[in-house]
Amino acid sequence: MADVHTKEIRSYNMSQIRSKNTKPELVVRKYLFAKGLRFRLHRKDLPGKPDIVLPKYKTVIFVHGCFWHAHKCKKFKMPTSKRDYWIPKLEKNVSRDRENIRQLRLNWKVIVIWECKLKKDRINKSLSDLYKKIIT
Ligand SMILES: [Zn+2]
Repeated sequence: MADVHTKEIRSYNMSQIRSKNTKPELVVRKYLFAKGLRFRLHRKDLPGKPDIVLPKYKTVIFVHGCFWHAHKCKKFKMPTSKRDYWIPKLEKNVSRDRENIRQLRLNWKVIVIWECKLKKDRINKSLSDLYKKIIT
């Protein structure tokens, strides 16, 4: 494929490829496991393949990267170049997320945890809030 990305974005991609087992996801999994929760990962039979599935609590969790899921936060900035490429792509991600969550909510408690909430200064609170949400 032709190189449609600027150098900047390409190196960003290299580090943040949207995929399974991202660092924020691992942090969340490790915490929940330490709390004694047991879960399954990336269940393909569920809309959007949720990152973490806790059958006992009828709960699914998505750990979302702020860039790929266009979080309205400081961490997200629409790229200034190749906008014809990025804007529809990210909009598609957002509408797909919304649809997946809508479907999942029919049967599951759905929790989205954003990458920016896992920064050093707020990770402890975010994780304990997450735990409370799961078990209540
Ligand atoms: Zn964010």
